[in-house]
Amino acid sequence: MQRLQAYKYELMPTGEQQRDMRRFAGSCRFVFNKALALQQVNHEAGGKFIGYVEMAKQLTAWRNSAEMAWLKTAPIHPLQHALKDLEKAYKNFFEKRANFPRFKRKGQSDSFRYPDPKQIKLDQANSRIFLPKLGWLRYRNSREALGELRNVTVSQSCGKWFVSIQTRREIDIPVPRGGMVGIDLGIARFATLSDGSFVAPLHSFRRHEKALLKAQRSLSRKTKFSSNWKKARIRVQKIHSRIGNARRDFLHKTTTTISQNHAMVCIEDLQVRNMSRSAAGSTETPGRNVRAKSGLNKSILDQGWFEFRRQLDYKLAWNGGHFIAVPPRNTSRTCPCCGHVSADNRRTQARFECVECGYENNADVVGAINVLRAGHARLACADTSPEVGASGQEPTEATIQFSV
Ligand SMILES: [Zn+2]
Repeated sequence: MQRLQAYKYELMPTGEQQRDMRRFAGSCRFVFNKALALQQVNHEAGGKFIGYVEMAKQLTAWRNSAEMAWLKTAPIHPLQHALKDLEKAYKNFFEKRANFPRFKRKGQSDSFRYPDPKQIKLDQANSRIFLPKLGWLRYRNSREALGELRNVTVSQSCGKWFVSIQTRREIDIPVPRGGMVGIDLGIARFATLSDGSFVAPLHSFRRHEKALLKAQRSLSRKTKFSSNWKKARIRVQKIHSRIGNARRDFLHKTTTTISQNHAMVCIEDLQVRNMSRSAAGSTETPGRNVRAKSGLNKSILDQGWFEFRRQLDYKLAWNGGHFIAVPPRNTSRTCPCCGHVSADNRRTQARFECVECGYENNADVVGAINVLRAGHARLACADTSPEVGASGQEPTEATIQFSV
């Protein structure tokens, strides 16, 4: 079995390298935005979606034009990769996995990727890496990167630069341990397992919310671009990054434990995107129950259900297990005992009581049991090997964060 893994390290660039990296990230953002604008103009004119090959030709034209000649000073492969990123964003939109691609702003996920391993040299013994147009960069070598190098992503966060090295290596397929389990995701309990156990939510955002509000208020009182304003802004960014770290840590711990103890995990195929869509509605159709829904939105976004699913999927594959997404169908309203389906079965958020047979349990546990059953049903339908397990998704930078 092939394992893809990403190793992230902090870079120790020279001043010149920092300036270059900022410039390259800016050039990639420019190309992404320009291509997105072109797609939009083309679409409004009734044109078809412009594919990557055609768009790459445009990029060549931009680089050869007098007014955008500065694009030539940036490495070509990361610029092309920005176009691939845009195509992926469109694909996710077409397949209803994401919202419409948005223009990128400066300072918002500043990064660029070198997709061609032939142009990269990794010298782990001397803690340095060679990247086109940047030269040798030193990095904090906290852990050995195993496997064959595939691509490298450079990114900036809180004033620091990082390099994420993705590798591929052959490993023996492990024999999965444990049985099959269903999981219900919720607000009061982050994850409830069909065996009755559950994972309490972290609410990393809530916990830091007060500190963040205070820092943001202090920032808004400062004169823009003054030195105090800059200091206050760094404080806000730091709290944001603390929230992110706590959440990442929580998700990794949870998904590692679950994937190590189960051979098969069934989960409801929730459209988190729909649930977290703006609750306020439009002026014509103002949203109902706005306050309650925005509370729910905050919790969903806070807890990272998508990231949870993504991690479970690839970690199960790493451990030789399987991941099954089942369509959400009455999972919260069906009685696991007699099969009776009724909204009345669930009188409160927390309690399930069947109006037919009187079966009682925690509502989330009932949901998890029904998800597990739906997973069993899906397995029974598939004749040979079920369409489950590794989705083939590549690990992103968030996947593994060893070092730093
Ligand atoms: Zn019943």
